[in-house]
This record gives sequence, structure tokens and C-alpha cells, in this order.
Amino acid sequence: MEKVSIPVVKNVLEAHEKLAIKNREIFDSNGILTLNLMSSPGAGKTSLLEQTIKGLKNQVEIAVIEGDIQSDEDARRIQKRGVQVVQINTGGACHLDGSMIQSALESLDLNPVDLLIIENVGNLVCPAEFNLGEHFKVMLLSVTEGHDKPLKYPLMFQKSSVLLINKIDLLPYIDCDIEKIKSTCKSLNPQIETFEISCKTSEGLENWFNWIINKLNEFKQGTVS
Ligand code: MG
Ligand code: ZN
Repeated sequence: MEKVSIPVVKNVLEAHEKLAIKNREIFDSNGILTLNLMSSPGAGKTSLLEQTIKGLKNQVEIAVIEGDIQSDEDARRIQKRGVQVVQINTGGACHLDGSMIQSALESLDLNPVDLLIIENVGNLVCPAEFNLGEHFKVMLLSVTEGHDKPLKYPLMFQKSSVLLINKIDLLPYIDCDIEKIKSTCKSLNPQIETFEISCKTSEGLENWFNWIINKLNEFKQGTVS
């Protein structure tokens, strides 16, 4: 038997990595800071985008890539906010990959854009395995999902630079131990920055906006790598 299986797997991974590097070159040469936003379905990614656009639109030129298995519901919501948006329908695939981003970029006018947010497919598992070329991965977890999720799905939390804990307005009605989420995440990923937010009441969003503004400034000074 010839040993062909290992080289094939390696080539696929290399192809993904090459695409990610290419995407990153496009982001960097256009001066676009790019975030890869990940969460399970229903955690509030699109609501977070709506709030972020509302909060930063006057200071920051934002564009959005919407990833969904099907439908353009989310892209329509974003379009109403008056920013450039492209919908990717993965047609069954449960995550985005670099080639999908590469084609989506062709539909955007990159010139004026400062900040690109990629809303990944709602899924707590494999989106974390695919580098899209982004500068930062951002993880959104809602308190209704339970405090055990970082332990059960560690990779997302390990790879993210920011953890946003959403729907804190619901805390009085559910059993969710936020301190447990934070301590588990810190042990998985000591560098992670955590913000508690509610997209419903806007509580805590200012901290998230400040994080973005700081990163945009660092990016412009060339200290984001
Ligand atoms: Mg969505
Ligand atoms: Zn997947």
C-alpha cells in the first residue's frame, strides 16, 4: 500500500492556510481590521452587529460578511443599518473557510472600509478550526447557553481574543454562573478579554466599542500582527 493519505490531508490544510494568508494581505493592504465573530446559533451575533454599527457608524466605516447555511435574513437586517454587506450561503457547510471569504471580498468596495466583521455560521465547534485571515477571533456566548459551554467546547474559547457574554439582562431568570464562565475561560486562555453585555438593553456595549476603537488605533500604528 502506498502511503498517500497523510500528504493529501497536509495539502488541504496548507491550501486553507495559504488562502488565509492571501486574505490577510488583502485586509492589511487596504487598511482593514478584520474580526471573525463566532457563536452558537441564537447567541445574538446579528444583534451585536446591529448594535455595533449603531454605536460606531459615525466614527468607523464598517462592512459585514454574513455567513449562514441558508437565507439572507441576517444580511437584510445589516443592510438596513446602511453599511456594505455580503451574504455567504454555505449550502450546508457548518463553518466559513478562506475561499468563501475570498469570493465575498470581490463584492465589497474595500477602499473606504476600516473594520470588517465576519459573522461566522452559528456553531460552537468547527468555525474555530478555520483561519479566515482575520486579525482577531471574537466569541459571543449568551448566558442562556449555560456556564458549562467553555469546558465542553474549549477550542473556540482558546482561540478567541475576546469573549462577549451576552443577554445579561436575563440573569435574574436563569441559573448561569458568570464567574464560572470567566474562570474557565481564563484557565483555557489567560489572554482573553471578557465583556458582559446585553444587546437588548445596551448594557456593557461601551466596553466592547472601546476595545474595537483601541484595536483600530493599534492597527493603524502597525502594532497588530
Ligand atoms: Mg445571525
Ligand atoms: Zn463546520
